[in-house]
Amino acid sequence: MSEKIQVALLGSTGSIGTQTLDVVSNHPDLFEMAVLTANKNADLLIEQALLFKPNCVVISDESKFEQVRDALWDAEIKVFTGEKALEEVVEMQEVDIVLTALVGFAGLKPTISAIKAGKNIALANKETLVVAGEIITALAAEHKVNIYPVDSEHSAIFQCLVGEFHNPIEKIYITASGGPFRGKKAEELANITKEQALKHPNWEMGAKITIDSATLMNKGLEVIEAKWLFKLKDEQIDVIVHPQSIVHSIVQFKDGSMKAQMGLPDMKLPIQYALTFPNRLETDFPRFNFLDYPSLTFEKADMETFTNLKLAYYVMKKGGNLPAVLNAANEITVAAFLEDKIKFLDISKINKKVVEEFEWIKNPTLENLFETDILTRQVTAEMIAKG
Ligand code: NDP
Repeated sequence: MSEKIQVALLGSTGSIGTQTLDVVSNHPDLFEMAVLTANKNADLLIEQALLFKPNCVVISDESKFEQVRDALWDAEIKVFTGEKALEEVVEMQEVDIVLTALVGFAGLKPTISAIKAGKNIALANKETLVVAGEIITALAAEHKVNIYPVDSEHSAIFQCLVGEFHNPIEKIYITASGGPFRGKKAEELANITKEQALKHPNWEMGAKITIDSATLMNKGLEVIEAKWLFKLKDEQIDVIVHPQSIVHSIVQFKDGSMKAQMGLPDMKLPIQYALTFPNRLETDFPRFNFLDYPSLTFEKADMETFTNLKLAYYVMKKGGNLPAVLNAANEITVAAFLEDKIKFLDISKINKKVVEEFEWIKNPTLENLFETDILTRQVTAEMIAKG
């Protein structure tokens, strides 16, 4: 058996996926790719598979299956498609860790399947914990599986907690860049185009998370993700806007001491740490220079303008199926905004309306959450269609 860490990378063609492959390329002695997966981007998946030689790949879009199968025939790489494929490949015996870099609700089922198969998880797909945090963390405890955060803020908190696991957290501060529209008021946001919203000041990311960053929904999802990852009470989680994105988050302990993790914004660092914890590997990533940043600033998040963040706190406090409702509504509204069907401010307006009108289930089963997801998508799409 190989001594290398065998990685199943779900969403290898995306922003996190390609950066994960950069990390792996820098350490061929440590990592081997067991599985690569994509939704539609067959060309890039083929290119990656020929380079990294995984045991198998999944292309979720069935219409692309033959193209991928034919291209990888000679390389003896198995190719799968279909609804269950992602859930099955993560269970393969050789897989040591599953890095979930899928976007949205699609990450939930394969994550459940990986946990049940006893695989450790490097979690980028925050939506999984937003939708089903209580169920996922209980399942991970039951199967003695570790969930290592990939999100930079959660990685920062995790790094601050090393050596402190016996010390209770008093509070965490999740930092937010504030996105491209920091400081603007609702009147100025009415006619924002998708091109403007897709320009993040500090991070290069996939389209959905970039829009979520512009509306502060991403920060809201991160607040809920943190609750489950670090077993926190709602009132222990605060958001602080820090436009330079150098301090990635902060933990405050019961003696008042605060620990922060800092560095230039680069997702490769938290990706690598999630794959190598508790070890740190040498990198040639650019280093932070204090003199380039004579002032690091902090300000209050504007929840009156960016109401998605307020809404995320509301659904977190209310609990039950409401975080799943917000997540599904938001996936539909963001997609509609990217297709020019609604305006920027409609994203948060419609999200709020759907959350307010949806039937609350206090203690949902997993099945309830899947039903909630499907129904919320229908309700939101109908609301958008009615205008
Ligand atoms: P991208 O949109 O760049 O990539 C998404 C990946 O998932 C692609 O490989 C895509 O395939 C695949 N995919 C999308 N939808 C499906 C589906 N329904 N079924 C199967 N595969 C699918 O996203 P990001 O990399 O930006 O984000 C991924 C996750 O990581 C998100 O949850 C995000 O919140 C989180 N995250 C991202 C950060 C970043 O810097 N990008 C930072 C922190 C967290 P294809 O290319 O074929 O469409």
